[in-house]
Amino acid sequence: MKENIGIVGAGICGLSSALALSKHENNITIYERDSAPPAGSPDEAFFQWSRRGAAQFRHPHAFLGVMCNLLQEHYPQLVQRLWDAGARKISFEDMLPDEIKKSYIPEPDDKQMWLLMCRRATMESVLRKYVEEISSITILSKHEVVAPELEVRDSTISLHGLRVRENRGPVRSVKHDLIVDASGRNSKFPKWLEGFGATIKEESEDAEIVYYTKHYQLENDQNEPDRTGKNRGAGDLGYIKYGVFPGDNGHFAIILCLPNHEKELRNAVKVPALFDKICEAIPGLEPWVKKGKSRATTSSFGFGKINAIWRSFVRDNRPEALNYFAVGDAAVRTNPLYGRGCSTGIVHSHLLEKAISSKSSPIERALMFDRLTEKELRPIYQASLREDRLGKKRAEASLRVGRLESSKGLKQWLTASIGDAIASSSRENIDVFRGVMKSFNLLEKPGDFLKDGKIQRIILRYMLRGRKQNSSARYQRGPSRLEMIELVSGKDAA
Ligand SMILES: Cc1cc2nc3c(=O)[nH]c(=O)nc-3n(C[C@H](O)[C@H](O)[C@H](O)COP(=O)(O)OP(=O)(O)OC[C@H]3O[C@@H](n4cnc5c(N)ncnc54)[C@H](O)[C@@H]3O)c2cc1C
Repeated sequence: MKENIGIVGAGICGLSSALALSKHENNITIYERDSAPPAGSPDEAFFQWSRRGAAQFRHPHAFLGVMCNLLQEHYPQLVQRLWDAGARKISFEDMLPDEIKKSYIPEPDDKQMWLLMCRRATMESVLRKYVEEISSITILSKHEVVAPELEVRDSTISLHGLRVRENRGPVRSVKHDLIVDASGRNSKFPKWLEGFGATIKEESEDAEIVYYTKHYQLENDQNEPDRTGKNRGAGDLGYIKYGVFPGDNGHFAIILCLPNHEKELRNAVKVPALFDKICEAIPGLEPWVKKGKSRATTSSFGFGKINAIWRSFVRDNRPEALNYFAVGDAAVRTNPLYGRGCSTGIVHSHLLEKAISSKSSPIERALMFDRLTEKELRPIYQASLREDRLGKKRAEASLRVGRLESSKGLKQWLTASIGDAIASSSRENIDVFRGVMKSFNLLEKPGDFLKDGKIQRIILRYMLRGRKQNSSARYQRGPSRLEMIELVSGKDAA
């Protein structure tokens, strides 16, 4: 039956939820607090669109295989429009390390592992235009949702609408059969619902990092440097992680990611000239920023408070609110370093569509959506947490000579050893690289490739080489921590 659906937020997941739910001829209204994108090119969207509601909007985004395949399968015309706007495909072959490239023989599954690269402004403005053209969907910009409309009967909360105000004007009520909360990381719904007696359990863990970005554009006559050779365009020096995000139309961004305790370097990356100085000192970044290759198009800017969040809306098999569904960052968030948020968000939107179209009772819909979310997204969330925890230990170890993180007991030592052996073998062995890339692209549950007997034997062989040799594969060439601190705090830097 046709339903009247209200979606809060026209970010990536609000738009993808509208797409998924529009399949069933529902009437959909999306309320978005920010203004609409400017009408012109991706550059106008990037430089001029005011997106206060999505603070990460100007940070670079990679779009993983799971998302790319889903878009290609369901919305091929949307993908075509992204190519037309300058987006780029990075194939599995493009990502092969040099050591493997020479002897590479393609396999059919390799085609599934590709990244779509463009600025988030390009992705969002093209996606939004595509959604706007669907006649059953209306997007209302500058419309802020200020509260849910609901009733509480026998301590059960049921939503039946929203309270909305346009352009900070008077508040009006609108009726909806169901509400999709795609209002992102700062969703107010948990607080609002708790005000009516709901208990939204929130798990939260701080990754203890800061994330800095600066954008550049290649000079007219310049090509992109190599990203996969000896000096990789993304990597780890132990005390700093870095990465180049190739974008659309000659644009690219560089991220520098630091543990909270790196005070001197954290201060330095805030200063655009010192950001460049750090990049020039890292062999994997220097070819991108050297004089004549590119020019900066923005200052350096950061994102703190990087917490993983999991919100549960069902307790003891009982939904906390009926006709209410939280998707994307409003429900689940992982460390942006892994580039998973939009991919898991779009998968989440499609899980919602499955729950809504398979069940008609509000309780059954909520339970099914919760079950699907737990089944599909929980393993990804847990894997991200494990990576964060290991990352914190490694950051701590980077302050000591020798840089191997300590492990308490055999289990921790074994986990660290296996991690090092995977890092090392994935640089040299195509089977392990394929497995790692399947996990990275979320085409299977993280780490599933380790169940394969052949891969287990390869990893065991690498483990026998010892942790010291394997762990060095995790790190790229570059200045030591003290050299880098000296570089940014020396007379030169001043
Ligand atoms: C630094 C950083 C880098 C990242 N890099 C990547 C990456 O490489 N790849 C990747 O896949 N993901 C990445 N992510 C994660 C990704 O940005 C998010 O997972 C994704 O944007 C979530 O989409 P969303 O629609 O849930 O929320 P958002 O995109 O944040 O959208 C929420 C929308 O809701 C609107 N809104 C909020 N409240 C209201 C209200 N009351 N009324 C009306 N509108 C409202 C906001 O204005 C906004 O438009 C990164 C995140 C960060 C912080």
